[in-house]
Amino acid sequence: MNNFKSRFKFLGGRRNTKLEHVSKDLVCGMASTDGIDFVYTGIKYSFCSDYCRQQFQKNPEDYIIK
Ligand SMILES: [Zn+2]
Repeated sequence: MNNFKSRFKFLGGRRNTKLEHVSKDLVCGMASTDGIDFVYTGIKYSFCSDYCRQQFQKNPEDYIIK
């Protein structure tokens, strides 16, 4: 139980420090618009429009460059 608690604390601390942010729209390549974003695997992705965000949500792996 102690293990679980310390792990939870660790994750909470990480979240407060910095969330990775991809500010470029990966769907169309344009600059993103404030407020249109989607968090996937702990990284925040921003998009120019709701349309691009929806495209990304359907197949995130297609747009993420590894
Ligand atoms: Zn776009």
